Amino acid sequence: MASHFSGVLQLTDLDDFITPSQQCVKPVKVEKKLGKSVAKIQIEDDGSYIQVDQDGGKQKLEKAKITLNDCLACSGCITSAESVLITQQSHEELFKVLRNNQTNEKEQKVVVVSVSPQSRASLAAHYGLSSSETGRRLTSFLKKLGVHYVFDTSFSRTFSLLESQKEFVERFQRKEQDRKALPMLTSACPGWICYAEKTHGEFILPYISSTRSPQQMMGSLVKCYFAEQLGLSPQQIYHVTVMPCFDKKLEASRSDFYLTNEETREVDCVITSGEVLKMLEEEKVSLNDVTPTPLDILFSNVSGNEFLSHAGSTSGGYLHHVFMNTAKQLFGDEIKELTYKTLRNKDFQEVTLEREGVVLLSFAAAYGFRNIQNLVQKLKRGKSPYHFVEVMACPSGCINGGGQVKPSSDQNPKELLQKVDELYKADLPVAPEDQTRVSELYETWLQNVGSERARELLHTQYHTVEKMTNGLVMKW
Ligand code: SF4
Repeated sequence: MASHFSGVLQLTDLDDFITPSQQCVKPVKVEKKLGKSVAKIQIEDDGSYIQVDQDGGKQKLEKAKITLNDCLACSGCITSAESVLITQQSHEELFKVLRNNQTNEKEQKVVVVSVSPQSRASLAAHYGLSSSETGRRLTSFLKKLGVHYVFDTSFSRTFSLLESQKEFVERFQRKEQDRKALPMLTSACPGWICYAEKTHGEFILPYISSTRSPQQMMGSLVKCYFAEQLGLSPQQIYHVTVMPCFDKKLEASRSDFYLTNEETREVDCVITSGEVLKMLEEEKVSLNDVTPTPLDILFSNVSGNEFLSHAGSTSGGYLHHVFMNTAKQLFGDEIKELTYKTLRNKDFQEVTLEREGVVLLSFAAAYGFRNIQNLVQKLKRGKSPYHFVEVMACPSGCINGGGQVKPSSDQNPKELLQKVDELYKADLPVAPEDQTRVSELYETWLQNVGSERARELLHTQYHTVEKMTNGLVMKW
């Protein structure tokens, strides 16, 4: 298949197609000083590593175990992490905790599972159910396994949308003094964040929104608020999220989301939609046969027993909400509907607000690495016309994440994607400002919007990752 990239871009080994990753290795020095002598490392035919000392003595070296904490965000596994050996975050780990809860009363943990709306839609398409029905049956299945609470990350996404709206208005107002205040680039996609930190570091990071993703908002909510409400330490809660991609595992493993004093992560384990299907299959359960159960409404975006959603893209609707809010707040325009203009391809779209021929707001959505790379190049050349860009690593966005349920052999992938898209959009949208439960939490938990506490618990930071010398990653 012909690639859409220019020759230069191909050398970076990035493509928009989800393909097996490069081998995930942590580079080590091949010469080791032992006192005054230098030992050499030689690689045998069977791939094992042998240390050869100066006196000729040989010693077989142990293989180092790579965990998510060692990940260098080398771009090799972005959006294609299926082949990375992830031992800490898998559905087996969740099973282990649930089994331990049954046998070890003293070390029992409260198990909380937060499900993303994209995963719900993916499983709904697989079982031929509505998204809400899938949510109710999944809650029932998980609770039978011993899970205590099942929440919905479209609830925590409300915080992400409100904080993004606020952050954008602040950046827009200081754009004259701060050259890098705009465009504000969204931060909910860890595939994009890994790539930005590794490949463009210091140049790009100031543009990226500091607002946390819905997964990490829920992490904060569950470990810092809910634990307190239950009278537990954050460590006594085991928090699992169900996500459409593997990159969310990397996000949960970031040191920024580790509670040092409490020695626990805000999200302990991330499992994908596909892994949930595996759990169901391992338990020999079909969601079609499960009796639905009422939803846990405490941290769920629901009306009655039906899930609600947010307007805009199936990747969270950031562009939609930030645009609507800014148009109203800064320019007094109450916009009913956004008109998207497709540019190079369906994954690069633009929305503008104009008055008397003057462009007041210029927003874009750039999905997939070919569009992301074009965007970054424009930024570097000072040719980007945008104030805001919703950036997502996967073509078609989160609905098409690498961890979604795969099409069966007789299923057309495009038709499946369209089905998942329809199921996701069938949930009625609600404006973030109208979610009274979130407004209450701002008052009781965070003091108010924009408080120091909100800044600490709802925002994060990014770090330049040192480049390793690698023939496949070329500086450009
Ligand atoms: Fe994951 Fe969504 Fe980013 Fe794809 S676009 S890597 S599904 S967060």
